Amino acid sequence: MVIGVLALQGGVREHAEMLRALGAQAILARKPNDLDNLDGVVIPGGESSTIDRLMRIFGLADPLTEALRGGLPVLGTCAGLITLATEIEDPAPGQKSLGIVDMRVRRNAFGRQVDSAVETIVTRYGAVRAAYIRAPEVVSVGGDAEVIAVTSERIVGVETPSALAVSFHPELTGDTTIHERFLSKVRGTVDA
Ligand code: GLN
Repeated sequence: MVIGVLALQGGVREHAEMLRALGAQAILARKPNDLDNLDGVVIPGGESSTIDRLMRIFGLADPLTEALRGGLPVLGTCAGLITLATEIEDPAPGQKSLGIVDMRVRRNAFGRQVDSAVETIVTRYGAVRAAYIRAPEVVSVGGDAEVIAVTSERIVGVETPSALAVSFHPELTGDTTIHERFLSKVRGTVDA
């Protein structure tokens, strides 16, 4: 399995290392043709408005949107979750999202207590050690989007048939649950 980690800004290396530790091949995707022949994509955390701007400058936004609309599996973490949303409640000036997962998100939604924190949360796939860094919250979901993780009554994980999006950073705690789930979705499309 070849997974492209979108490497424009943010926490790229930790995702690549975790994917490799789980037996996948990870390449860093920076140019449109880096998206060719991938089995899946990871959009990391960072700053979603910066990732948005760089995707447009480097010509990645359109081919990536097309590939994801076509069902290419994607994992988005933190800023990556924001990037996948259909609607951002409080975008930075000019900020757009790719509109892949039917959800409305709010950036920097957690107050000081979990501004930056590590906690164990309950997900559909069991307990996960999750790091939060100025994390977004999912305000609502629609269509084929299902809630898979909640903390303090806030939605922090959403899944569709091809996408997995979480508010937190699973790549920073060494907990492989979310990446394993993502790779099992990728395997499903590769074997189909
Ligand atoms: N607050 C950031 C944003 O709006 C996300 C933070 C993160 O990815 N750790 O993009």
